[in-house]
Amino acid sequence: MICHIEVYGCQMNAHDGEILSGILKSAGHTVVKNASIAEAIFVVTCAVREHAETRALGRITHLAGMPDQKPLMIICGCVAQEHGDRLLKKMKLLDFVIGPDLYHRIPDLLREKTGRLSLTEQGVEKYESVSPDRKEFPRAFVTVMRGCNNFCTYCIVPYVRGRERSRPSDLIINEVRGLLKAGYKEITLLGQNVNSYIHAGINFPKLLEMVSIEAGNKCRVRFVTSNPRDLSLELAQVMASHENICNQFHLPAQSGNDRVLKAMGRGYTRNEYIAKVVMLRELMPDIVISTDMIAGFPGETTEEFEETISLLQEVRYDYAFLFRYSEREGTAALQISPPVPVKERLARLSRMQDLQAEITLEKSREIVGKHMTVLVTGPARREGQMASRTMGNRLVILESLSYEPGQMVQVRITRADGYTHFGEPLSTLLKKN
Ligand code: SF4
Repeated sequence: MICHIEVYGCQMNAHDGEILSGILKSAGHTVVKNASIAEAIFVVTCAVREHAETRALGRITHLAGMPDQKPLMIICGCVAQEHGDRLLKKMKLLDFVIGPDLYHRIPDLLREKTGRLSLTEQGVEKYESVSPDRKEFPRAFVTVMRGCNNFCTYCIVPYVRGRERSRPSDLIINEVRGLLKAGYKEITLLGQNVNSYIHAGINFPKLLEMVSIEAGNKCRVRFVTSNPRDLSLELAQVMASHENICNQFHLPAQSGNDRVLKAMGRGYTRNEYIAKVVMLRELMPDIVISTDMIAGFPGETTEEFEETISLLQEVRYDYAFLFRYSEREGTAALQISPPVPVKERLARLSRMQDLQAEITLEKSREIVGKHMTVLVTGPARREGQMASRTMGNRLVILESLSYEPGQMVQVRITRADGYTHFGEPLSTLLKKN
């Protein structure tokens, strides 16, 4: 069958899309970029915010309505898991509703023509024997754990991704060895909350160290996502003592106010959170730190929101992913009142965005003139330029096409515009001088 896959949402979904493509290809199906020739269309969806859900369902309706074509329509991912049968009843254009832990069942469904079906059992994924159809050479994702047990009150992830389960470390190391043999130069360890990885007595700091030793000077190692409450000194020390572990940490704070953090069920206070940031910066002074923040959580007063603003000012993140609170069905925060009016949520969000845009620009300008090693990842958006990434995951544009994806290049940062930086290869500079 000719299949087409579209993916929305986080890196976990992006990698699940690679796994799904690998499953389809190994079952003899073809996966194409062009939806208009597909006989089966898979949309891997995200349910983290209402907007993400509406957008994906809108796309499905559009794809199903394409003229002179009646492809099988299959919704996958977190929205599929969240609604299951209800969605099948509500959207007649859907043929299958498949949760994120059941992609291994898809070849049978396509072969057996079972009729319209919804599958949403959790924690039953069989992906160990799958070779993912990877899309990001020279960078690769490796899932180390799935699910989350934290139940932050605004978050739908524990409901749609199930309970935490960690992959055996030997299988993770085998996958890493395969990627090194295939010439990958950067591996990102993935999980909804990697810090709570635990398998046969091996916790995340130990696993990270094992992967780092395996990768050696052939490959650099990154990981995402962490809940600050589980960030340990042990993990920070492992990061600081291995050169190939990237000096980058995504540390979602979500709020700067203790009462709101408690209502969110985050499990740390503002001061405990700041102490973790200080710990990271003491051990790795040039670490790049990013965060997630939510504006307008139910009951959040203007004074409490000011503490989120002051946290952004105090920590001065390199980047921040900023959101307004979005009601999610089934989450505990729905019972918290009074709700902050949407207009006010948007006003608070835009204040955060304005402030963080200034900070991101100032922080990025601090690296102008510095020498850095970048990994060439592929062509940049603009013609004649290549894109590359620093250890801190900063985007650096090279004004030349004479570099191959996977090459490590020494550059001097010549310009910085916040999210984008420009670098001049030292080799070129040497020639010029
Ligand atoms: S730790 Fe992250 S994924 Fe887990 S419930 Fe909290 S916000 Fe959601």
